[in-house]
Amino acid sequence: MFRRQDQILVGVSGGKDSLTLWQGLVALGYQADGIFIDLGIEDFSLPSRRIAENFAEKIGRPLHIISMKKELGFTIPDLKVRTQKYCSLCGSVKRYFLNHLARRMGYQVLVTGHNLDDEASSLLGNVINWHLKYLARKYPVLPEGHGFVRKAKPLCRFTAFEIREYAKRKGIEYLEDRCPLSPEATRLVYAEIMDQLEKKMPGTKLRFYLDYIRKAYPIFHEKMEDFLDKPLITCELCGEPAVSSPCFVCRLKEEARA
Ligand code: SF4
Ligand code: ZN
Repeated sequence: MFRRQDQILVGVSGGKDSLTLWQGLVALGYQADGIFIDLGIEDFSLPSRRIAENFAEKIGRPLHIISMKKELGFTIPDLKVRTQKYCSLCGSVKRYFLNHLARRMGYQVLVTGHNLDDEASSLLGNVINWHLKYLARKYPVLPEGHGFVRKAKPLCRFTAFEIREYAKRKGIEYLEDRCPLSPEATRLVYAEIMDQLEKKMPGTKLRFYLDYIRKAYPIFHEKMEDFLDKPLITCELCGEPAVSSPCFVCRLKEEARA
């Protein structure tokens, strides 16, 4: 996923997964800094940010803070008023900033705290809906190139339970609360189905995920270009990889200014 000398940027949310990941990397001697994106969500963004800042101080590593309001001129609650698709836009905006800033600040690898439960339930969702373009990119490490930095999910084999136990034993203070704007519904259904399967057939989550990676991913990945809606180009305004120019973030910025 990365080499000892790589400069690593950890996407930090203030939850157990990202803080455990950050703690683990630093304890193992990696040069890992954090990045927190303040989405401007009332009673959620501020406590998350405080926890992330305290943690950064505790482990003695820099934490970069990005304010969505400052960068884009609006927050996620502002976006929620304008569109029902605020959650998927929020995910895309976060991915955009993580990549954009990792590149701008010279980090070689961007890591996130996705765990086995996240990966297995989203894989199930992608299989049930045959989201081929997502299946073709569902891998614990994606190489750099086409304007993207290398991305990795080092905790993808660990369950949420294991990570929570680790965090408790290491005395990591994290935010338990979920985002209050999360529509939950669909994602939770897949997570519940995976939990039921795991209960009846222990080991199912790991087997489902790892067998996908070993047996099915290479087949989907080989056809990736065929599954993309549009080929990737470069946004003429911000220089990020995009399917249109200006990219969706630059267009959102323009709309906010209008
Ligand atoms: Fe953003 Fe909250 Fe949706 Fe997560 S649940 S993508 S933080 S709005
Ligand atoms: Zn752009």
